[in-house]
Formats: sequence, structure tokens, C-alpha cells
Amino acid sequence: MEEKNARKLLVDTGKELLETGLVARTWGNVSCRLDHDNIVITPSGLDYKKTKEEDIVKMSLTSGEHQGIHKPSGERRVHIAAYEVFPEVNFVIHTHQTYATALGLAGFQALDITKEEKEMLGGIMLAEYGLPGMKKLTNAVQAALKTGAKVVLMIHHGALICGSSQEETMNKAILLEKICKRNIKGNLEEKNKNSAQEAEQLMKAVKEKYRYASLVQTPSALACANSGKPIYAQVDDMAQMIGRKIPITSGKTKEVIKVLEKVNSVLVPGIGVVVTSETEDDMAALELLVEKAAVCNLHTTAFHVKARVNIIHTALMKFVYQKKYSKQKV
Ligand SMILES: [Zn+2]
Repeated sequence: MEEKNARKLLVDTGKELLETGLVARTWGNVSCRLDHDNIVITPSGLDYKKTKEEDIVKMSLTSGEHQGIHKPSGERRVHIAAYEVFPEVNFVIHTHQTYATALGLAGFQALDITKEEKEMLGGIMLAEYGLPGMKKLTNAVQAALKTGAKVVLMIHHGALICGSSQEETMNKAILLEKICKRNIKGNLEEKNKNSAQEAEQLMKAVKEKYRYASLVQTPSALACANSGKPIYAQVDDMAQMIGRKIPITSGKTKEVIKVLEKVNSVLVPGIGVVVTSETEDDMAALELLVEKAAVCNLHTTAFHVKARVNIIHTALMKFVYQKKYSKQKV
């Protein structure tokens, strides 16, 4: 594909992924093959809403050299692996999509998927864990791709989706989420037990202290809040932005506010998950992460699987993420 068109396609795809909710913030990345040796890829850590054609990075598959004003995505190696394994693949999307990520945590031997859907995806395979950007992750993804699967679920992380064109790859990402959603187990029908008035009073008090605060009341978030147990980090992006766990509180306003001094999200029985942040952008990302954490938690609990991210990895990722983000804000 011509470079100019490919750059525009990546910018548009980034926005499309945001709109469909398949990625949030700067998570996930997209690439497109130009010729046998070159690809273009979204840059590292740039918001999709702000990404322009000139921000897209061109890089060589063989030498790894790149040109442009930004560094290529830190997850470029899994994209490179896809182009190397499949000569017919011209477009690759990596997402942190909710249901595919949750499904990857408990395995999928008994997946409810039709023959047609499987064919449309081009095969699906699980990849072992590796820290983002590290060789271990690349090797794991490469091994999964080499089985012939065009869709790889990266455990504790997200999905890698390969296709011959942007349209095909995007359709696969959407189809994958639909299939995974259907296969998610756990109580997703929980209703709000407390009155709206109680929630309102609590949020009023929280908002007096925090500029950006919000209440996540999705059925999954409510089910987790009502379970009386914390949500532990099972995926990398929650580890990075929230930390080791979302604690549970009794629901007393004073206690909720006190716990929020140390963490940005807390579970409140009967009410949901209270989230605070420093910016509006963070808020939107956190709401998505909380919902995903809740879905993951319910799904793994239903399968009696403990899929927590290693505690040292969690601390390391949170540290690196915050350092990276504080640099970008300056
Ligand atoms: Zn990722």
C-alpha cells in the first residue's frame, strides 16, 4: 500500500477503535504493511484522538530501524512477528478489548463458536504471559501465530488480530468481542440494591474532595461490589493504572473517602465502584478499566481460576507507567 494512504488508514483506525470501545487512551496499537520489508505503525504512548498522519512511524521489518518524529509502539515486536509469520497479512491490530481479555484468563476449551465464525477469525490461540514489550511476550505470541491462528489472545493483556486488509482485521476484532462476550460466565445481571439517593449522597461527598469522580454501576461492577471481595489485578493495564487491587469498603462515606487517598478505585457494596482521577481523560480510561476488571473477576471466579498478575510485575508496571505518564504531561 502507498505510504500516505497507509498513514491515514492508521489514524482513522485508531479513532474507530476508540469509538467501538476496543481500546482506551493510548493502549493498543495498529500497523499496516507497505511492502515486503516495511510497515507503518502507531507511535508509542500517543493518544489516538491526537495522532496525525505525520506521527505515524515507518519501520523496517528486517533491520527494525524506524523513521519519524516518534518512537514506534513499544509493542511493535508482536506486530513484526505477525508480518513475518504470515506473508499474506497486511494489517495488524492489537487491542486490550474487555471480553477477549477476560476470556483469555480462564482458557477457552469449550468455546461457543460456530464453524463460520472460526473461519472468519482465521483461527484463535492463546499466548503465554510476558511483560509488555519484552522478548518473552514476543516469543509467546510468535509461537501462537505459528500454529496458524490469525487471532491470538495474550493472557493478562489483550488480543492480537491479523488480517489481509484494514476492513477484514477490524471486522475480526469486532466479531471476536461479540463471540467472547457470549462466552463470558459470571453474574452479569446484578441490580443496584441501594437507593439512588444513597449513591448520590456518597458521590456528592467524594466530589467535594476530588475534582474528577465517577460511579461505575454496570451489572458486572455491581456484582463485584456486592460480592464483598476486592478485585485483584488480572490484566496489565489495570496493574499499570489502578495497581494491585480495587479494595472493598463497608460503604460508609468517611471510609470510602479515606481509602480513596491511597487508591483511585474502591468497591462499595450495593452502590458500585467509585473512581477518582486527576483529569477527565484518565476518568474515561479508568471507567473502562474498572468495568473490564469486574468482567475478568466474575469470569475467572465462575471458573475457579486465579489469574492474578504477579505482584512484583504489578509494582514494576505501575512504576514505569506513572513515570512515562508524568513525563508526557510536562
Ligand atoms: Zn498491549
